[in-house]
Amino acid sequence: MRELRTLPKAHLHLHLTGSARLATIRELADQYGVSLPVALVNEEFGWADGDRDWSDFQSRYDAARHTIRSERDVRRIIREAVEDDAAEGSGWLELQVDPSSYERHFGGLDQAVEIMADACQEAARAVGIGVGLVLAVSWGSSPERAEHVAGVAARYAHRGIVGFGLSNDERLGEPGTFVSASRIARDAGLLVVPHSGYYTDHFHVRRCVELLGASRIGHGITAVASPETLEILAQRQVTMEICPTSYLPLGVLFSLEEVPVAAFARAGVSVALGADDPLIVGTRLVGQYEILRAVQGFKDQALANLARQSVRASTAPAKVAERLLAGIDAWAQ
Ligand SMILES: [Zn+2]
Repeated sequence: MRELRTLPKAHLHLHLTGSARLATIRELADQYGVSLPVALVNEEFGWADGDRDWSDFQSRYDAARHTIRSERDVRRIIREAVEDDAAEGSGWLELQVDPSSYERHFGGLDQAVEIMADACQEAARAVGIGVGLVLAVSWGSSPERAEHVAGVAARYAHRGIVGFGLSNDERLGEPGTFVSASRIARDAGLLVVPHSGYYTDHFHVRRCVELLGASRIGHGITAVASPETLEILAQRQVTMEICPTSYLPLGVLFSLEEVPVAAFARAGVSVALGADDPLIVGTRLVGQYEILRAVQGFKDQALANLARQSVRASTAPAKVAERLLAGIDAWAQ
């Protein structure tokens, strides 16, 4: 059995707030006088049955987000996320952020994006891995708001913005609302990467692909129920960003055995493992690979294949991708 930390990989599903170290959030909470939920402070990741829903998850997330207020805080969170990812073998990280949480602290959306994009580039240089930023809006956003954020993302495409996402509870919106915003992003060469298919069914996933031109789907696990949707995902080479430790807390699966990575593989659909929100779920990137090994019996070659798929589905420049793929081959030899 090979060491999974040394397996080169790309990390395509990590939220800025959810990437934070608990120690950092506690320090910032003290500084700003924010009281954090007891479950977050005590690292209670067991998730009693009654806690298994979106609202508890969201309340922990919101409390953490309220501690990130200054440019210094954002730069620190991003730098630490990049350091922690690099330590887990990630050679390319795509960090996702909904800028609406930060624009009021920084005097506007453009300023917030400017700071976050610069922080990513600075951290990438300092740590020595590639970093891209995905700008996301909530599924509950208006089409106008989504178009506005997509427009800013498009303007910063040359500054390390690599994708346009739709995040939060996907039951809040309909793919049809975001056709225009997605087109703005795609026209600028950005990937469209919506969350879908954890609370919604496979039709929602399918509409994200057919209406929005999604290249990757955040989660999308309900798609395994539909051979037809699986066929569309395989044909269009859409990659599913699967985050094994997210589904129990969200109440969408009840055991890690159920995480449908092998089912996607059998259908010829690519999967990239992600950590989503390690601050809330307690497991970073390597832990996601470890779970598949320990719980589902994935062998090293299958885990190397998942790493390859993460690199191929990423926006990493060709040279970076080639280097990572060669590293994966060497690891798997
Ligand atoms: Zn997510």
